[in-house]
This record gives sequence, C-alpha cells and structure tokens, in this order.
Amino acid sequence: MNSLRTLDIKYVKGVGPKRAELLASQLGIHSAYDLLRHYPTHYVDRSQIYRIIDFDGDMPAVQVRGRFVSFNTLGEGAKMRYVGLFSDGTRAMEVVWFKGITSIKRNLVPDKEYVLFGKPTQFNGRWQMSHPEVDTPDSLLASKEIRGVYPLTETLRNRGIASRQFQIWIQTLLESRPALKETLPASVVSSLKLMPLDEAIRAIHSPNDNGALQRARERLKFEEVFYIQVDMQRRNRKRKSSTAGHLMPRVGAAFNTFYNKCLPFELTGAQKRVVKEIRADLLTGKQMNRLVQGDVGSGKTLVAVMAMLIAVDNGMQACLMAPTEILATQHYESISQLLAPTGLNVRLLKGATKAAERREIHAQLADGTLDILVGTHALLEDNVEFRNLGMAVIDEQHRFGVKQRARLWTKNEIGPHVLVMTATPIPRTLAMTVYGDLDVSIIDELPPGRKPIATLLRYEPQRLQVYKATYAQLREGRQAYIVYPLIDENEKLDLRSLTEGYDIIRDTFRDFKVAFVHGRMKPEEKDYQMGLFASGEARILVATTVIEVGVNVPNASVMIIENAERFGLSQLHQLRGRVGRGADQSYCILMSKHNIAADTRKRLELMTKTTDGFVVAEADMQMRGPGDIEGTMQSGMPFDLKLTNLATDGQVVQMARDAAEILLDSDPGLTSADNAAFRRALEATVNRTADWSRIS
Ligand code: ADP
Ligand code: MG
Repeated sequence: MNSLRTLDIKYVKGVGPKRAELLASQLGIHSAYDLLRHYPTHYVDRSQIYRIIDFDGDMPAVQVRGRFVSFNTLGEGAKMRYVGLFSDGTRAMEVVWFKGITSIKRNLVPDKEYVLFGKPTQFNGRWQMSHPEVDTPDSLLASKEIRGVYPLTETLRNRGIASRQFQIWIQTLLESRPALKETLPASVVSSLKLMPLDEAIRAIHSPNDNGALQRARERLKFEEVFYIQVDMQRRNRKRKSSTAGHLMPRVGAAFNTFYNKCLPFELTGAQKRVVKEIRADLLTGKQMNRLVQGDVGSGKTLVAVMAMLIAVDNGMQACLMAPTEILATQHYESISQLLAPTGLNVRLLKGATKAAERREIHAQLADGTLDILVGTHALLEDNVEFRNLGMAVIDEQHRFGVKQRARLWTKNEIGPHVLVMTATPIPRTLAMTVYGDLDVSIIDELPPGRKPIATLLRYEPQRLQVYKATYAQLREGRQAYIVYPLIDENEKLDLRSLTEGYDIIRDTFRDFKVAFVHGRMKPEEKDYQMGLFASGEARILVATTVIEVGVNVPNASVMIIENAERFGLSQLHQLRGRVGRGADQSYCILMSKHNIAADTRKRLELMTKTTDGFVVAEADMQMRGPGDIEGTMQSGMPFDLKLTNLATDGQVVQMARDAAEILLDSDPGLTSADNAAFRRALEATVNRTADWSRIS
C-alpha cells in the first residue's frame, strides 16, 4: 500500500492532470492510495436486466440491454438535446442527453449492444431515460453486479465525473497491480478473523455479494479505530514510562486540616474514589493527565481542591483555570472561603486584575508564598511564572484549546500534573476514541439530598401559567434564568427576539430586578450584569447561551428555555444544569412552538424523562452523529473516520481498544518484524502536532 501513497493520482490510468487537480481540490484525493480509500456510500444492484415492456412508473434506476436504432439532434442552442431510440426487443424507449452531447455522439453507434442503467420516466406516453450510464457488454465493469455509488461534489458532477469513473479508475488500478500487502499485524488479523486488506479493498469497491461487503466494511472500520487506539495507547504508555512528574508522597497539614475541619459534608463515594485515583497517580513519579468527568453539580470542585492541597502539602504550588471571569471569581470565592482555616494563600488573577495587584501576585508566585492561584486565561500569559507549579486544574476543558493546555505545561522544566474537569458527559465510545490517551475518572453520583430537576415541556398557550409559577418561586426568594436561542450571534432576528423578551420580562415581573446578558455585549458590561444576578440583587437573568458554562447561583431554581426546539440535547442539558444546585426543588421549563417535527418533540420529551447526562449525551450522539458533539474533541482526532460511526459502532471501538492493548503488551515499540509493516502504515496514516501529544 505504501507505494500507492506516493503514486500521484494524475498517473492513475484514465485520470490525467486536469481531473487530478479536481479530485485533489474537491475530495482531497492526491494519491492512488487516497483513491482506494474513497469508499462508496452505497451500492446499486446491477444483477437484474429488466425488459422495457415491464417498466412501471415507480421503478428506481434499472438496467436494460439492447441496441440503438437511430439518433437525432433536436432543438437548438440551450435547448439542444440528443435523442437515441433504444430497443431491447420487447419495446423501444427514448434515451435523452442534454449535456456532453459531443462525446456521446462520438462514442455511441447504432446496432451495437449496450447495457443502459437509469431511471425510467414517462413522457407523452413513451418510456424515456435521460443520461443513463452506458456500458458495453464487454466493458471492465460488465460483470460487476453490485456497484459502488461514490460521494461526489456538485462541481465534479458538472465536470462530468460520476460514480462510473470511480468504478473504472479503481477497477483498472486494482487489476494492474499485485495484491495489496496486509498492513495490520498478522496476529490481529488471524485472531479476529479479519478479511485481509487486499480482499477488503476490492470488496468494498466491488463486492461479489452482500456478505463479502459486510466483512469488508467490518475490517476497514476496525482498521480505522485500531490505528487511533494504537497511536493513543502508545503515546499514553510512553508518557507514563518516560515523562517525569512530581512525586507527591505526602498528605499533610493542608489536606488534613481541610478534610477534618473544613469539609462541610461527607464526600460521596464517587468523589472518594476519584481522589484515590488521583493520589495513586501522584505516587508514581510520572506526570498525571487525568480527565474528571462528572455531571453538573456532582462536586468536581471539591475533588480539584483536594488535588491542589496534596500539591501544597508537597511543597508545591497549584492553579485552577476557569473559562470565564465569573466562574473564576466564583471558584476563587468559594475556595478561599473553604480554605480559610488552613491559612493558605489563595489569589485570583483575571484580565481585569489591576496592575498593582498583578505585580504582587507575580512576586508571590515567584517567591513561592502564593499557594493556590485561581484565574482565567490570564494564567497563561508569559509573565505569569510559578516558582514550582505542581498541579494545574482546568475546569470545563472544552472551552480551552489544546494549545493553551500545552502552554501551561511548558512553564517549568518538569510539567505539573494536569487535572481536567468536564461536565460534558462524553459517551463511552467517543471517550474511548478521543481520550484514549488521557486517564479518565468518572464521578457518577450526585451528592445526597438533591432533588432531581423537574423538566417540563410547555407550549405558547401555557405561557401565562409558566410565568405565574415562576413568580411564585421568585416570591419565595428564588432566582430564575430565562434563556433565548442566539445560535448565530450575528443574527439580527435573534437579537430582536432577545431584546423583546427582555422588555416583556421586565414588564411581567415588575417587582424584581432583571439582569440581561448576551454575547455581543462588552465584557465589562457582561460581567456587571452577571454580577448583579450572582449577588442576588437581580432575581431574573435574561440571557443567551453565554450562561451555558460559567455561573453557579445555587439560589436559582427556575430555568426557562425559549424556543427549546432550536437547541441540541447536550446544550439543553448544560443549560438545565445551571439550576438544581441547591437543596430546593428546581424546575426547567422548555418552551416550544406547537408545530414541531416529530423527532424534535421526541428529543424534548426525552429531556423531561431523564436528568442523566450520559443518557442525554448518548441520545444526542445517536440523533446528531458524533461530529457535532464537541468541536475540540474532533480536532483531537488524528484523522477522519470514513466508515466508523461512533454513535453506532461501539462494538468495533471496544474490539479495537482491546486488540491494541494486547498488541502493545506483547510489542510495546512495535519493533518486531511481524509488526513492521503495520508500524510504517501507522506512522504514515497518523500525523499529529507535537503540542497535543505532549500535554495529553
Ligand atoms: P460541579 O461538578 O458542577 O463543578 P460543584 O463542585 O460546583 O459541582 O458542586 C456543586 C455543589 O454541590 C456545590 O455547592 C458543592 O458545595 C456541593 N457539594 C459538592 N460535594 C458535595 C457532597 N459530597 N455533599 C454535599 N454537597 C456537595
Ligand atoms: Mg464546576
């Protein structure tokens, strides 16, 4: 397969330089290898020959065999068409071309046998086919009964490139070359009884039967995920065995004082388990890279605090980075309050921090008197230098790019342990594929006594009742969010509905102060408005999805989501997580139009039935496909998955993961002769930036 990678697509028989350029720009096909990896999306059955006399109006594309009796050019200019009268002995039909007439004229002759493939239509009582695929009975493809239909672009179609060209190029290429050498390790192919590469590539393009096609797809899907799994597991093993990390054997005064004196409640079982997992990492002397996944409200912050305290107990500093100023401020306030009895020096650094205070923080960071620094992206600025950073906690990971994480790493010679916390419940298969190189801890338990959020689906005529119920909550001292969709922050229409909504809300709830935020506000204004709500001065916050991540107001008990039908499930779940953070019953009300599509209604109804983030995430992935779930995760993928659907191919992912583990256990460096071809293929397939691989 390797020599195919270096065979420029323009030298593949029948392609040539002009089409090569098109293939490259339209489909990213640069080499013969890329061409073979351009798989059909579906297949047509060409085993049946139909008789024109049996045609009926509902037929899909069908195949007929016969001869042209005559040809005529009709019409002129733009209306010109070329019409052939075609008979198969049972009846005659018209075959019409509107484009590419010159080449049709040159290539088709009367009285020669052809096989046509197209959809029969009726015109003036006669059967017709326009632009059918034309084969001669002796053509290369004639014996291929199942043919692939290839993904194309409009431009390619307009330039006369159709599935048929791909079939011919690929067939010609495969027939002119020796069998493709297997690239997966022989041990894997034999133990899993996979179809060999050569057979699989031939079968996926031109299967003899459905069984062969399924086995080919299975093999090629496995291969896609296997490359990723081996790559990630290999990096992970390498990091664990070679990337030095700070050894933190001590649990001392800071941790114990906190645990015994400050902890306001018993840890949940899940919190205890995750703290244990972190402690085990810190005893290895290797760098920790751990993702803590836990639904909103599961108590990730406490876990982070304890991890930071262990660093402090071992004479090092710690930091916690949050995605927004508000969230950083809230973290700072709750952490410094929690840690007051320990006497530790906790500071806050954000964009708005004044120069004098900044200088003081820098100085304390440098001389080591600052123990824990909480902040925003401001932590990543060049002049922020820790004396000895031992633990970096990153909250709500998906808001930070991978590059930023890498910068944090480079601060000291030995990088800090990294703990990433995310509330985005990532479905298992996706996590296994994308985070194969992070260790994952899951907090799958909420603190006791939480009442599940009651989620209700309501329609326009019920608006008044919704407002009444909200009013009652406000009168009891609670707070409410009202969220409007602002999917594209540039959409004037959305902005209008938001500002109108704001006016209506102020009018309806005159007794209460209403804060107002959206993404097009200046940051200071946004902070000011958010601050009004966070402090409790404003009792209602009218907002767009800017609040999705980054506010913690336990007193808020109502979340109204307007036009809920326009949000994705995961987004609704994130928004819902803004309430239900205190002990009181909270409500999430999904407001929707009445006339929504059945599957939209199903989506919204699912929200009313479950508060389990993992169930929501799985359903979201099933409905939307994995690509949309999280942009940054996808960018962590070493290459595109062409066949595998992470939402439905969980089994393949599991199989690949297990096989990768077995392979690397027996040959960690992939240095054995048996695995040499695989290693070369892996290295040619997977290319990733150094940044990403170093940090995670
Ligand atoms: P998240 O996982 O969303 O970051 P937080 O760490 O903000 O959750 O915790 C949510 C709320 O639950 C906070 O008010 C926190 O004090 C509280 N909490 C955390 N752990 C426990 C526990 N074990 N028992 C009771 N309440 C807890
Ligand atoms: Mg949190």
